Amino acid sequence: MKAVTWCGKQNVKVERVDDPKIINSRDAIVRVTSTAICGSDLHLYNGYIPTMGKGDILGHEFMGEIVELGHDVHNLAVGDRVVVPFTISCGKCWFCEQTLWSLCDNSNPSPEKAEAMYGFAPSALFGYSHLFGGYAGGQAEYVRVPFADTGPIKVPDDLSDEQVLFLSDIFPTGYQAAEQCNIHKGDVVAIWGAGPVGQFAIRSAFMLGAARVIAIDHYVSRLSMAEQAGAETIDFSDEYVFDRIMDMTAGRGADAVIDAVGLESHGITPDALYDRLKAAAYAATDRPHALRQAIHCCRKGGTVSIPGVYGGLLDKFPLGAAFGKGLTFRMGQTHMHRYLQPLLDRIRNGDIDPTFVITHRFKLGEAPKAYDLFNENKTECIKVILKP
Ligand SMILES: [Zn+2]
Ligand SMILES: [Zn+2]
Repeated sequence: MKAVTWCGKQNVKVERVDDPKIINSRDAIVRVTSTAICGSDLHLYNGYIPTMGKGDILGHEFMGEIVELGHDVHNLAVGDRVVVPFTISCGKCWFCEQTLWSLCDNSNPSPEKAEAMYGFAPSALFGYSHLFGGYAGGQAEYVRVPFADTGPIKVPDDLSDEQVLFLSDIFPTGYQAAEQCNIHKGDVVAIWGAGPVGQFAIRSAFMLGAARVIAIDHYVSRLSMAEQAGAETIDFSDEYVFDRIMDMTAGRGADAVIDAVGLESHGITPDALYDRLKAAAYAATDRPHALRQAIHCCRKGGTVSIPGVYGGLLDKFPLGAAFGKGLTFRMGQTHMHRYLQPLLDRIRNGDIDPTFVITHRFKLGEAPKAYDLFNENKTECIKVILKP
């Protein structure tokens, strides 16, 4: 089959590889019909996530048709159309039983690397380095889905691939980010990063009752997409973000802030420059400028929600400000399995049409061009989907 493989920093290829096979009785093989490139794939592309191997198959946002099932999967049938969540969860361990799906204890077959870094390993992810299980991803013609009796959700035929594909990550991820803000009626939610997750966080915050959403970015197209959802916007390249947010909230600050940027933050303030210099000298992994600014702009007693991915140790982290203001922090990979059915219902009810975010469509064979475009031209490109 054809698959998109990681071949080094800013180097992906489309290669012929062996077809996946059923290995365990709870596996499924899915013929991929649609897949997407995620902002977090760019962290791999740019070499920020360790333990990638040459030839590893990328991709954690995908859907398709079941073509083969292990003999212990009884809730799906060959021919079913499914969306697969990007986190891999066994459904049986203590964490899965608590619905802490992205913290599953069983899905990562080599947890020792993550344990050495974090103390404990979170769940495995599709196509996201050997730190997170080393599973082949879904930017391919076929993919093996472990614990298929627990993860994939069947989707009705009257919804197109493009309407449901983002249930695989960015819609639930944006939704959980908003849900973790503990939004009360009348709240102002400020969101750093108007990329795909930020866009879904904006719409989810409104669905959950936010009175106002403020989106902070520097790409005009992304800010205007945020405005289409009803958000107010701040272009950080020409405005003082803190002062603007204070003006907009009568000096109180945002009730909740969401960092939908993660570890490759850009900025124009001295701390952002400092991050860039340190990262360029390989003296730091993460560039947390957006997170610092979000913490600064959060009101006393407010909530900081972090769907943006971080990997290592953060420098100049303003814990004093967080402590002084009594902030609550919520973060982590999305507990995907909680959200699949309720958010599929929302798509069906017409609460949201996720296709709004798609700006580019490519064939799977054009993946190198698609990665390059998404990485280099964030003005034009917001979400790319690939068709095998
Ligand atoms: Zn993703
Ligand atoms: Zn589990």
